[in-house]
Amino acid sequence: MGTSGTVRQRTTQSTEKEDFVKITNEGEQRDKELDKHDTYEFGGPWGVFAIMTGFPVLMYYLWACLWFYDGRLVYPHSLAEAKPLLLEIWGHVKTDASSNWYAWKVYTGFMIHQLLLAHFMPWGYQQEGLPVPSLGYKTLMYNCNALVCVYTTLLTAAGLHYFDIFRLTGIIDNFGHLMTVAMFWGWFVSFFMYFATIVAGEPIRMSGSFIYDVFMGACLNPRIGNVDLKMWAEVRIPWHIVFFLSVSGCLKQYEAYGYVTPNMAFMTLATWLYLNACCKGEECIPQTWDMYHEKWGFLVIFWNFAGVPFSYVYSVVYMASHDPSKYQFSTSTYVIMFTTLLTAYYVWDTSMSQKSRFKMQTQGVFNYRKTFPQLPWGTIKNPTFVQTAHGNRLLTSGWWQYSRKPNYVADWTMAFLWGAIVGTATPIPYFYSVFFITVLIHRCGRDFERCSKKYGKDWDKYCSIVKYKFIPGIY
Ligand code: NDP
Repeated sequence: MGTSGTVRQRTTQSTEKEDFVKITNEGEQRDKELDKHDTYEFGGPWGVFAIMTGFPVLMYYLWACLWFYDGRLVYPHSLAEAKPLLLEIWGHVKTDASSNWYAWKVYTGFMIHQLLLAHFMPWGYQQEGLPVPSLGYKTLMYNCNALVCVYTTLLTAAGLHYFDIFRLTGIIDNFGHLMTVAMFWGWFVSFFMYFATIVAGEPIRMSGSFIYDVFMGACLNPRIGNVDLKMWAEVRIPWHIVFFLSVSGCLKQYEAYGYVTPNMAFMTLATWLYLNACCKGEECIPQTWDMYHEKWGFLVIFWNFAGVPFSYVYSVVYMASHDPSKYQFSTSTYVIMFTTLLTAYYVWDTSMSQKSRFKMQTQGVFNYRKTFPQLPWGTIKNPTFVQTAHGNRLLTSGWWQYSRKPNYVADWTMAFLWGAIVGTATPIPYFYSVFFITVLIHRCGRDFERCSKKYGKDWDKYCSIVKYKFIPGIY
């Protein structure tokens, strides 16, 4: 089917079976090779060990700088100062980031609440995922009920706060304690899933190195009933927490000053846009790399449970405890910031939906889902693409005609703004954008290498059509 490396066009309305993607024998062979452990990534076992221990330490350090040293990056000025400073920080961790009862109740209760909602909430939109090579190209169904769950969570939180049962301001006040419990769950679930997958006899792409396999994961599509745990953890935990941290920051400012600063409102809007995008476009997530390729290991689990929620919105934590005069901008600067955020969001939302819907269209499983907001150019009519010998198609229309990662550029712009909203008051909120650009460049390298193996000459052909990786004309 199809000619290798040709650019083709099809209509979105087409219902002819033969017009849908069909994996060729050559494609099956390449998929088999890609499903074997080949080379170590992330510096191999020692590299992943360093990441697994280094990241929690870095998170504690940044939290301590923000919380106790006025947002300054503290360091010893001489060797003699090193030990006292370390002991001082350790003292802060022991007292203000201990795993107290409040944090166990709130974090664990939130996880259980989200799991129960995902399992029992009706009105889930049923989306068929991409064919999974390791399951003999079987497709999995995804019960996309995040939208109804997020509104239920919002109403529950508002009720609990209003009736003084659970004050939302307590989330920021207990940031350190919650972070520790989140890290515990990140570690625990990673090891538990590794052993559970081994016992079930279903590991895939294993290297044989224990620590490396815990880090990368052993299972691809872990499920409890109708809940896909990997998708659940990606959507329901991190983005909810960053949004509720922002709401908590708003309430704290309102209690302290009687108003909410435009900066805090900006963060609430920004985190809401991200959370809402994941929920209203949940059916587009099964087509992303995290779902069909990345396994559910420490890399993804720890980051979803602890990394994203407790290192992406340092700006909110800073603003909740510092006078607004430290991060006040002119009206025109606010206009630029809000406009840039909304533009970046628009490009991110539509580029993600263009690619995901293109994949659904070519698989013959696309139905238009009317969730809010549906933005113009979210679906491409008559898309052009490169037909590969593998069987898959590579989109060359919409945002995807300009660069190979338009979604990364837009996503990173938002990440930068999440830090820039405090201006130069403290460097710590910029951690997210610095970390994220490293992740995206590394991820891009891993992804392109995989695509090159998967599509061979057709990938080169695609790269010659879509020349730029990130920004057209520049890089
Ligand atoms: P990508 O767009 O990078 O997906 C990559 C895969 O899509 C490729 O492996 C390939 O898979 C397929 N693909 C690539 N180009 C094309 C094309 N032109 N046409 C058709 N298929 C194509 O998305 P990701 O899944 O990596 O990321 C999704 C989003 O998640 C991004 O916006 C990213 O920024 C965000 N993200 C956010 C993080 C955070 O912490 N905030 C962390 C990580 C990601 P194949 O051909 O095998 O189908």
